[in-house]
Amino acid sequence: MLENVSLRPYNTFGIDVNARYFKECLNLEELRELLPFLRQNAFVVSGGGSNLLFTKDFPGLFLKNNLRGIREIERSNREVIIEAGAGENWHEFVLYCVEKGFGGIENLSLIPGCVGASPMQNIGAYGVEIKDTFEYLDALEIATGELKRFNLDDCAFGYRESVFKRALKNQYIICSVAFRLSLHPTLNTSYGVIEAELAKMNVLEPTLKDVSNAVIRIRQSKLPDPQHLGNAGSFFKNPVVEAEVLANIATNYPKVPSYPASDGMVKLAAGWLIEQAGWKGKKMGAVGVHELQALVLVNFGGARGSEVFELSQRIVDDVEATFGVRLEREVNIF
Ligand code: FAD
Ligand code: NAP
Repeated sequence: MLENVSLRPYNTFGIDVNARYFKECLNLEELRELLPFLRQNAFVVSGGGSNLLFTKDFPGLFLKNNLRGIREIERSNREVIIEAGAGENWHEFVLYCVEKGFGGIENLSLIPGCVGASPMQNIGAYGVEIKDTFEYLDALEIATGELKRFNLDDCAFGYRESVFKRALKNQYIICSVAFRLSLHPTLNTSYGVIEAELAKMNVLEPTLKDVSNAVIRIRQSKLPDPQHLGNAGSFFKNPVVEAEVLANIATNYPKVPSYPASDGMVKLAAGWLIEQAGWKGKKMGAVGVHELQALVLVNFGGARGSEVFELSQRIVDDVEATFGVRLEREVNIF
């Protein structure tokens, strides 16, 4: 175990804080050896560090989960079950599946981070969430050292939610995740600008690879690359509100975008609310709101995590004052 390690290379915001302890684990045995320590100390398990914000030095153990390996578990005429180690890079895993002709996660191309974090918030983009193809995950229980299997219903997946963020927070280390993918996939191109991008690419009959490429191109055109500009993707979740809240906003803002959600609720676009509140492209010292996507807060260089957090708080307060809607942070704050 290393001590007093800078986490700057381990979080895509590029925040320079120290972890009191640091350990990278390559296999289950190494994880098991750490369990007594984890039972006594604060810790954070991490993959790619693309959904974390450190507001101060971390007083416990930063555990980089680097369990690797991709294997085929089962195959029928129609489907294949593929299991990947928690430390596999998510986008490389998506590309691996696309190359093999396994369909279902191509719309999730270019999401940063690792496979092991994907169930944490049921990652989603372009009309697809991992819950749509999720088969099971295996996770190490910290209290007992047992490897436990979680099926779909056990995970309580919701919009950017799972049981691992709520009732079972800090109780399990996800070691591998399996997906049921289609050998005869139906492509999902109806969301947003995918079809327009395919047309720009002169693609008339898209393949899995074309859809993946279209998503990559769209994302590269509007999202900052953390290698060049520190960020953790969408800082806030899209709020899901009562229809009445939407109606109130529409009185003053008739063009307010909204999408149907479950139980008669509606989803608002947090980025739009932030933009209307005047924050898009704004800079506050070393931090700011991205000029093309108001949901993304950025570190222009050398920012402290507390500065990012303060900016986020000002946005939360302004959006609430303007629209009566309180934004919830998606990024995990430490
Ligand atoms: P980390 O940031 O390392 O960890 C995130 C959380 O998961 C933490 O709470 C951590 O403790 C926990 N965790 C990580 N690994 C494990 C494990 N093995 N066991 C238990 N707990 C674990 N997200 C989306 O949903 N959709 C998007 O389209 C999207 N686009 C993004 C674009 C950009 C440019 C960026 C920077 C981020 C984006 N994100 C998106 C957010 C982020 O990429 C995802 O949430 C991703 O799944 C985080 O993976 P990670 O390995 O980096 O997790
Ligand atoms: P966008 O296409 O400009 O859309 C803005 C918002 O409206 C999105 O947040 C999206 O909600 C919602 N939306 C748009 N079309 C929709 C539809 N047909 N049905 C339901 N909801 C719709 O969004 P963007 O910022 O460019 O992002 C594109 C996709 O990548 C989105 O799915 C977004 O969630 C995902 N993304 C996520 C992160 C992250 O860190 N979490 C970062 C970048 C991009 P949803 O977000 O619910 O889809």
